[in-house]
Amino acid sequence: YIQIYAEKIQINQVWVGTMLVLRDVTKETEADRMKEEFVSTVSHELRTPLSSIYGFTELMLNREIDPPKQRKYLTTIHSETGRLTTLVNDFLDVQRMESSEQRYQMATFDLVQLAAELIDFHDASHTTHELSFEAVGPIMIDADAEKIKQLLNNLLSNAIKYSPDGGNVAIRIENHDGFAEITIRDQGIGIPQEAMSKLFDKFYRVDNSETRKIGGTGLGLSICKEIVKHHNGTIDVESTIGAGSTFTIRFPIAVISTILTYEE
Ligand code: ADP
Repeated sequence: YIQIYAEKIQINQVWVGTMLVLRDVTKETEADRMKEEFVSTVSHELRTPLSSIYGFTELMLNREIDPPKQRKYLTTIHSETGRLTTLVNDFLDVQRMESSEQRYQMATFDLVQLAAELIDFHDASHTTHELSFEAVGPIMIDADAEKIKQLLNNLLSNAIKYSPDGGNVAIRIENHDGFAEITIRDQGIGIPQEAMSKLFDKFYRVDNSETRKIGGTGLGLSICKEIVKHHNGTIDVESTIGAGSTFTIRFPIAVISTILTYEE
C-alpha cells in the first residue's frame, strides 16, 4: 500500500515547486487490518458461546425441564465452554509466542507413535468423518511432543471442520529424503487461490458463505506456522475448491534415527 501526498516547497515565502511524497504504508495498513479482524473475531467468538451458555442456564434455572432436554442443553453448554477454552488458549499461545516466552521441551521420540495415539483419540471422538492413517515407523524427530500434538490437532480439526460429514481425512507420515513428511489430506471445501498468501497470518479467515457458518478465530494456522518454524521445519498447502486441501509438513529426522537406518 502506498500513500501519496503533495507538499509545497517555498523559499522566502515564494512557491518554487511541489514535492510528491510516496510512503510505503503496507505495515500500518496490515496492523490496522489485524486490529479490525481481532475485534471482529473476539466479539463474535466470545459473544456467541457466552450468549448460548447464558441462555441455556437461564432456561434451566427458570423452568422445570425434563431429563432428555436437560441433557441436550447441558451438552450444548459443555461444547460451548470447550470452544471458549480453545479460544482463550489460542490467544494465550499467540501472546506467548510473540513475547518469546514460549518454552519448548525438546526430546527425541517416534513421530509415528505420537500421531497414531492422537489419531485414535480423534477417531473415537469424531464419528462424523473417516480417518485413515498410513505410516511405517519409527520415524524419530527432535521436538517438543506437546507442541507437535497441538500442531497435528489443529490441522486435523481443520480438516474435519472444513469438510462435509462422511468425508475422509487421510494422514500419512513417511521418511522422505531425510525428512519426516506428514501429509493431511481432506475432501473438504478447499481454499481459494487468493487466500493462500495470507492463510498462515494471525486472525486471517477465508470470508465466504461457507466459512462464515463454521466458527473459528484464524489463529490455528498461525500457531502451526510458529511451531513448525521453531522445529526448523516447513509447512505447505495445496488445495482445489470443492475437492479438498492437503497440508504437508516436513521436519528434519533426528540424528539417532539416521544412524539406526544406516546400521540396518
Ligand atoms: P480458524 O480458526 O478460522 O479455523 P485457522 O488459522 O486454523 O483458523 O485457519 C485459517 C483459515 O484457513 C480458516 O478460517 C479457513 O478459511 C482456512 N482453512 C484452514 N484449514 C482449512 C481446510 N482444511 N480446508 C479449507 N479451509 C481451511
